[in-house]
Amino acid sequence: MTAGYFCEDCEVSIWPAAPRSELAWLKDRIHVVREVTRHSQGGLDIWMADGLTFLEEHRDHSVLVVTKS
Ligand SMILES: [Zn+2]
Repeated sequence: MTAGYFCEDCEVSIWPAAPRSELAWLKDRIHVVREVTRHSQGGLDIWMADGLTFLEEHRDHSVLVVTKS
């Protein structure tokens, strides 16, 4: 099972290499994660960086955590 984010407004999706639970976690805590990344020198996991970028681009849109098999 692959998990990803889907924007209902734009009808686009991405499929970062992370389980659904992780994607849901990131989506729920994007405000916290954004603050942490602003102050961290180290690199983010790629899935997290990709997910963060997507969530930022679709900040005011209806984004769902979705899965496909
Ligand atoms: Zn969108």
